[in-house]
Amino acid sequence: MARIRATHTSPERILRQFLWRRGAHYRLHVTTPHGRPDLVFKRQQVAVFIDGCFWHGCPEHYVFPRSRQDFWRQKLAVNVERDCRQTVALEHLGWRVCRLWEHQVFEDPEGSARIVLDTLQARIWTPEPIWRVVQVGTLDLDGQIERRHLRELRGVESDRTCIRRRTTHKWRAARILEER
Ligand SMILES: [Zn+2]
Repeated sequence: MARIRATHTSPERILRQFLWRRGAHYRLHVTTPHGRPDLVFKRQQVAVFIDGCFWHGCPEHYVFPRSRQDFWRQKLAVNVERDCRQTVALEHLGWRVCRLWEHQVFEDPEGSARIVLDTLQARIWTPEPIWRVVQVGTLDLDGQIERRHLRELRGVESDRTCIRRRTTHKWRAARILEER
């Protein structure tokens, strides 16, 4: 039953539930100088964003649509650009920006909550690199082989290109909720 409910629950709610249990008191709908994160810890200046795999170019789950490709190409570029700008600008002001993928929260809510807690508590905080798909091109007539360009969100590593077969696989819903 818990699992059925979980599949209909947004990643925000799942993460909030896990953080709440651990006494992490966030605020919702807080506007920062650069955007409106999903969760904010004002005193510690920590902003948490939960990014949708499609809208934000998840390297594992972004699926380049078959139709209106110019529109979607532009949409992805704009979203990733905003995420980069926002993250760097907030960190410049002394915020710690924690960006989680929706699949990450669904698959491992416990681990996701731990990442947020580490961001809150670590004396020295070094974020993991975050890769984004910024562009997808197809290399064959069927559109089955793709060349994907990836960018690291904070620009600490140079762009990458990978070639892979088109997939539309989804993440697994968090089974951990069922066991609790
Ligand atoms: Zn994903």
